[in-house]
Amino acid sequence: MRTGMKPQKNRRELFGYKICDGERVIHETEGLIVSWAYTQYCNGFSYQQIADKLREKNIPYRADDCKWNKNMVQRMLAREEYCGENGYPKLIEHELYEKVQSIKRRRAAIRAARKEVPKEIRQMLRCGKCGSGIEREKAGKVMNWQCRTEKRTTEEYITDEVLLEKIVKKINEIIAHPEVLEIQSEQTFKLTLSMMQANNNILRQMQEQKRSVNEIQQLIFQAAAERYQNCTTEDATYYTNQLLEVYGQEEIKAVLDFELLQHTVKHIYLNPDGELQFEMINGKII
Ligand SMILES: [Zn+2]
Repeated sequence: MRTGMKPQKNRRELFGYKICDGERVIHETEGLIVSWAYTQYCNGFSYQQIADKLREKNIPYRADDCKWNKNMVQRMLAREEYCGENGYPKLIEHELYEKVQSIKRRRAAIRAARKEVPKEIRQMLRCGKCGSGIEREKAGKVMNWQCRTEKRTTEEYITDEVLLEKIVKKINEIIAHPEVLEIQSEQTFKLTLSMMQANNNILRQMQEQKRSVNEIQQLIFQAAAERYQNCTTEDATYYTNQLLEVYGQEEIKAVLDFELLQHTVKHIYLNPDGELQFEMINGKII
């Protein structure tokens, strides 16, 4: 052990510990702050929020430096010594330490994902003018999007971050006004009506026996096509109801809700002026 170690007056001991009679021991108040900070981080607070709280409560970091900042908290939450490693008395459970490390990794991944458009979203992107796929064209620091067919790029430079912001903004517009998801009701009515008319027409023709079998068959095919079209409209109504239910329950988003986007949006059209349009799963363009 450290029997030969001399206590040094100006020695900077790891926060949470002190040297007492040549021995490294837990510093009562600092030790409590360490375990408190680890728990706070697990409860969802950021480095900055934890530092702010410590400053607010006038808790000194050092006797000569009481101003906590997020870097100090970050360093504190990365020291394995607190679990009783490298000859330090144990301050926190190893389990708590590991939990903090895994939350850190997860938060870092979320931050990274926010700044780069994921592959799944890139596949949803379409040129707003011709509907072709678009791809990112990177020239130095400049980033814009190019239509694969027209080879034309967006007028303004749109970084991934800006594009994601635009997507979040659009989602929030729909959440604020879910009625934009609705499809004109007369469309459904018209198709149902034309389907009925086609059916009646076939029945009449068959009863009157004015037409040949081939002609009747032709009419049946026509009616089937109408019915198919109508079926699509019924699907659209089904999807519209689903969308209204989902968006009606959502609250304004601060970051991209990837799952919501994937489940409700078929394509994202990027217009040459940089404006976005969503093609929803019910076929509605917003
Ligand atoms: Zn195009």
